[in-house]
Amino acid sequence: MKKFDVIIVGGGPAGFNAAKTIRTLYPERRVLLINDKENFQIPCSIPYVVSGRIPAEKNVYPLSKVKDLGVELLISKVTSINPSELQVFLENGSSYRYERLILATGWIPNTLMVENSHLDGIYYITTETGYVQKLVDEVKSAKRIVLIGAGFISLGFADQISKGYPDKEITIIEASDHIASGIFSESFEREIEKELKSQNVRIVKDTRVVGFEGNGRVRRVVFEDGEKMEADLVFVFIGFKPNSKLAVDAGLSISERGEIIVDEFLRTSEDNILAAGNCVLHRSAIDGEPVPGMFASISARDGRIAGLNVAGPEVRDSGIVPAGVTEAGRKYFGFSGYTEKVLKRKEIEFVVSEIDTTDAYPGAIEGCKLLKIKLYFSKSGKVLGGEIIGSSKYVFPLVDFISRLIADKLDISQIVALETVAFPPITPPPLLQPIQMAALAARKEL
Ligand SMILES: Cc1cc2nc3c(=O)[nH]c(=O)nc-3n(C[C@H](O)[C@H](O)[C@H](O)COP(=O)(O)OP(=O)(O)OC[C@H]3O[C@@H](n4cnc5c(N)ncnc54)[C@H](O)[C@@H]3O)c2cc1C
Repeated sequence: MKKFDVIIVGGGPAGFNAAKTIRTLYPERRVLLINDKENFQIPCSIPYVVSGRIPAEKNVYPLSKVKDLGVELLISKVTSINPSELQVFLENGSSYRYERLILATGWIPNTLMVENSHLDGIYYITTETGYVQKLVDEVKSAKRIVLIGAGFISLGFADQISKGYPDKEITIIEASDHIASGIFSESFEREIEKELKSQNVRIVKDTRVVGFEGNGRVRRVVFEDGEKMEADLVFVFIGFKPNSKLAVDAGLSISERGEIIVDEFLRTSEDNILAAGNCVLHRSAIDGEPVPGMFASISARDGRIAGLNVAGPEVRDSGIVPAGVTEAGRKYFGFSGYTEKVLKRKEIEFVVSEIDTTDAYPGAIEGCKLLKIKLYFSKSGKVLGGEIIGSSKYVFPLVDFISRLIADKLDISQIVALETVAFPPITPPPLLQPIQMAALAARKEL
């Protein structure tokens, strides 16, 4: 039986980054990466493919690049693990032995268990290129598109499809009274809705789907109150769950929600097995509580942490700061950490400050765009979270900047005293550096 120093199951951002880190630091180690499919799409950019902005063949996930790192790549499904024998078994019956195993098996979409949910024309998200190409063709030919769920994925799809095809009638149905998983404050939610509405996307909240109608193919969506809506094509985007079956079957410790439980070095309950990415239970860097971490950004860092720790504890995971960016209409919407609704739900007292600035200076400079920032501070003067709107790409470094302040637990006065680079065409003006100014305004309230 072939033996490897490290076997990685799953080649998404977590598995890939683990492989890269191990081969960079320990080039003498033999690493085998096993993934159950070869030709699949980069998930984050699937909305851009479905809307016709990028051809599917230009969005193929570069899995084979692990071979350039000296990693052995095997396309097969791992069907079970035997932790006591340090073995993995494949669907064709063969098996491999490992010294260290890294589980990076990712996510699977939640399914909607309602009447007639098997009808043609009802789609979930998976990443196989053939499947995504089918979605491209379906979107092209549909007139009325219904998306169920108003989370980040759904908003991203609606935004891109309505940009690519302004003539489609697009409706998002959301069971709760908020969008984007309640991450943004009311005023930001309204901005997202306004932007999408300007692109012909309707959002219907407080409405539950109980079934579908159609003869073989979906024709109508049925709601709890008996109302119906015509639909040629339906996307179901009601969240993701961890793909942890291998770990469950192997007897590893698992959370109530099915996530693999890991310690601060990403070690599972079994010696020699680490886990990384969407399949693990993440904890917040703010209060240590379990927190959703289904982001490529977090999987990528998990992979690197697992890679660093594969030869023994080296780097401690001090928790994650969930953060993301979405696009609606002409604007980007970013968040980091705990924002208003989350803080209220957790009954954490906070001070919020709001700052308007620009992504260049002076305002007359070509391409200068407005940015609005909300920053949330604890009563003890630590950043808890932030929200940003702007039609500027500068939203993303601000999100990352806020995440660092949260993770490093910088004090409010230290934040006021921070320097950040200034350069007219690409940064906010030195007189309105947004994070420092928001901290200054909040400092007065504490
Ligand atoms: C439409 C869409 C848009 C998104 N946009 C963003 C975004 O803008 N930003 C962001 O940060 N995140 C985004 N995400 C989330 C992001 O894609 C995921 O968080 C990320 O892919 C998770 O990485 P992972 O490595 O943990 O798992 P995955 O990417 O799920 O990789 C796991 C791999 O393991 C394989 N596997 C599973 N079980 C087995 C087995 N038994 N044997 C062999 N192989 C197996 C799977 O096939 C898969 O290839 C988006 C997701 C979707 C669907």
